[in-house]
Parts: sequence; structure tokens; C-alpha cells
Amino acid sequence: MIIGKYTLYSIETSEFGLDGGSMFGIIPKPLWEKEAPADEMNRIKMVTRSLLLVSEDRKVLIDTGNGTKWKEKYRNIYNIDTSRYNIEISLAKHGFCADDITDVICTHLHFDHAGGNTKIENETIVPTFPNATYWVSRENWELANHPSQKDSGSFMEMDWKVLAENSMTQIVDGKEPFIDSIDIYLTYGHTTGLMHPVISDNANTVFYGADLFPMAAHIPIPWVMAYDIRPVVTVQEKEVLLPKFAEENWILFLEHDPNNQACTIRQHEKHFKMKDVVAISE
Ligand SMILES: [Zn+2]
Repeated sequence: MIIGKYTLYSIETSEFGLDGGSMFGIIPKPLWEKEAPADEMNRIKMVTRSLLLVSEDRKVLIDTGNGTKWKEKYRNIYNIDTSRYNIEISLAKHGFCADDITDVICTHLHFDHAGGNTKIENETIVPTFPNATYWVSRENWELANHPSQKDSGSFMEMDWKVLAENSMTQIVDGKEPFIDSIDIYLTYGHTTGLMHPVISDNANTVFYGADLFPMAAHIPIPWVMAYDIRPVVTVQEKEVLLPKFAEENWILFLEHDPNNQACTIRQHEKHFKMKDVVAISE
């Protein structure tokens, strides 16, 4: 898909699973299980999916997935599997490699979004994208480095410490323009200062859903994750965005959906659902 000066590629970086109850908050299991069947450990099937934006002078990667630094114990808990999808394979499929990446936009620093920022080489943690600037919002940077007990398990310093030490991080408010033709929309329900990149031209607009809309099953307004630090704010943010998506036919990029890269939205009275599946790339 081409939007304005960018060609877009869907970059799947891992398969994994999170607890279905945590993923759907107050929604009862008999309802969510129809959308996302659970395995014997109550985990639902998910992926980490990044979006690569390629222009003449930049290759911008949005989020980096779970990465590969996992100890066996957590690899098992989260069922992390990088045998079918990983960053190298998915970039290579479209003719790119890690050294090509000029910018990484970190929507937020949760481990399943920033884990691929760094990797282990010769028993040392090093940047996965040695030529990139890593963009992080100031508010999420501050939270990640001083998390509450509720979200301390979601932030892992090894995903960004070496980047900061090598002056590869750029902390931004998220309101200022920082990469050409990419707008940023900030939300606060899932975590503080979550940056959603928005790419548009006269014909199409893509909204990067991140953890406000992790899967197509999270389109209905009350289907909100228990991981969210301000679930009522998430509901309010969805109430503002979904009518706009439906009216203006925006494309919603789905970072964790195992089956759909992106979709459009339809509205029926007060309810919202997926309209059409959209393929960003092969
Ligand atoms: Zn998150």
C-alpha cells in the first residue's frame, strides 16, 4: 500500500499468547472465546506486527515486538515463538535489513512493543537497529522508568537502557512534528503518552491502533483490556475515534491480531464492528 510519500509494509515479528481474561477485561469468557479461542493455559493466539514506512530518504519502523532476549521461563509463559515470524525474516521478505532502518517510533515501552529494540550479541545487549533514532514520548519514558506496581511487569529496562547510553533515543512531546508526513495522536487509557502514528494522503488514512485497538475483537467500545491503567479513559478515547474511523473510512492497523493486518470500521447505531479486512502488504 502506498500513502503519500510512503510505501507501507506489514512486518510480523513474533507469535505469542496472553491470558484471554486479561485481554478482554470485564467481558465474560463465553463471549470473548468466540472471537479468540483460549488454549489450555487460557492464552489467546496473538502476534506482534510492526509497520514499516519507506520513503526516498527514510525507513521508519513502528514498534519492534517481543524481540528475542527472553529467558525460557517467560518464553513459555507468553508462548513466544519467533520461528515463523521474526524481524530479520519479515524485513528480508521485502528486501530490507535491520541496518537500513533510520527511525524506530516506540508507541510505548511495554515489552511486547519495544522488546525488539535491542538484542543479545556475544552475551551483551546491543541495539537491533544500529543506524536508527528511537523516538519515545516523554510521558511514556517517565512512566517506563518509574512504573507503578500495576505496570512494572510490562516495562523492561533492557529494551531501552543501551539506546539511551548511546544517545540513540529522542524524547519527544508527541505533539511536535518529528518525522515528515507522520502525525502523532496521543492516548492515555492503556498507558500514559501512547503515540499512535497517523499516515494519510488525499485517498487514505492509516491509524496505528497499538494497544488501544490491539485486535479486531477490541473494536466494540466496552471490550477493553485489564492491562489498561485507565480503562474508563480508554472507553472515552474509543468513543471519540470510532465514529471518525467509520465516517471517514480510516484504516485501523492491528498490531496484535493474528488474522488481520488492518481493517475499516462500520457503525450500527451505537455499536462498531470491523467492516472490511485491509491488506497493507503481502
Ligand atoms: Zn501495551
